[in-house]
Amino acid sequence: MGFLEDYTHTLNPYGGCAFGCSYCYVKGMPVAAFREEAWGAWVDVKQGADELLRRELARAAAKGPVRIFMSSSTDPYQPAEYREQVTRSLLEAMAEAPPDFLLVQTRSPLVTRDIDLLLRLGSRVRVSMTVETDLDTVRRVFPLPRRRSPRGSRRSPGSRKQASPSRLRSRRYCPAASACRLCCGR
Ligand code: SF4
Repeated sequence: MGFLEDYTHTLNPYGGCAFGCSYCYVKGMPVAAFREEAWGAWVDVKQGADELLRRELARAAAKGPVRIFMSSSTDPYQPAEYREQVTRSLLEAMAEAPPDFLLVQTRSPLVTRDIDLLLRLGSRVRVSMTVETDLDTVRRVFPLPRRRSPRGSRRSPGSRKQASPSRLRSRRYCPAASACRLCCGR
């Protein structure tokens, strides 16, 4: 996974992923392969992750630059994040002790809820939004994410919810799902 070589740490607020994309590489990994539930049908909430992160950030910063990819094996903005706020608690920890760089990779417009914390990270953070297609008619034909995944139109450049400072934004258009596997698999 060449894309991840740019990072010193990966950060996964959840185990599993409710979006359940058919092409997701994580469902073939041990964390999912030995589970007796279908990929997309389960999500583990990592309660208390913010305290662990605070300790790890202090330890890692003493050793050198800290570059974090959130997330490599889940989407940090699961539907459960509306209630659990694990990702938000991690951003709070990082706003207090900023890493050198943080990439937030998601397909959910829920990320806009946390703009206040993302702005506190300033130039140290970038938000990347995955959009396979901007046509919901195409999305219905292709077996990409499950229905719980936000519609493409909610993640499109013109979406009101998507309005955020340009320095935070990056969009990844993935017309061919197989191409996504070449970088981080998403
Ligand atoms: S590709 Fe990303 S959003 Fe889709 S199921 Fe895998 S981790 Fe979740």
